Amino acid sequence: MGHFCVNCGAPLVVKTIEGRELEVCPNDSYVLWRDPKVSAAVVVEHDGGIVLGKRSIEPGYGLWCLPGGFVNDDEDPARAAVRECMEEINAEVELTGLLGVYHVPKTTASSIIGIAYRGKVADDAAISAGPEMLEVRVFAPDSLPEIAFPSHRAVLEAYLTSPERGAEAAPLTGAGSALTQAPPSPGPEQRRPRRTR
Ligand SMILES: [Zn+2]
Repeated sequence: MGHFCVNCGAPLVVKTIEGRELEVCPNDSYVLWRDPKVSAAVVVEHDGGIVLGKRSIEPGYGLWCLPGGFVNDDEDPARAAVRECMEEINAEVELTGLLGVYHVPKTTASSIIGIAYRGKVADDAAISAGPEMLEVRVFAPDSLPEIAFPSHRAVLEAYLTSPERGAEAAPLTGAGSALTQAPPSPGPEQRRPRRTR
């Protein structure tokens, strides 16, 4: 509470809209909607196991997680997933399917819509730890380490019980082909401080 209008700078006032108490501008139509953030994560199948990274930053320092992170406003989630893999495991990953979409409720920050993909390392190239990882390693699906985030545990659970697991990834067709479609020219890479998930 205690925010200001992005249009006119006036202090926002609380009003009930569609049954929710929201901060709105008394002068114009601005509403501070409480929207979720979108994140993407990938279960990367590699060398018969799953690629996990040991985190070198908080939250979850020293614990393991899937490669993934927040989706930028101008990014397709699939492209964000591939970018995060490049940043965190230093490898080009091909997405091979959609595992699921998850709501991660939070009370002290924006809730998260998590989109989880299956993927594999392109050309079976080597993987290595990016700056936010102490190390990356391939784990057998039946001997996974302690996972940093409940949402990633849920994704791994879904993966381990999915009927497609272990099956040779079928080429994606139709709408699914967008998963691996080359993105339009990306423009200059914008680096900015990473947000915690
Ligand atoms: Zn205003």
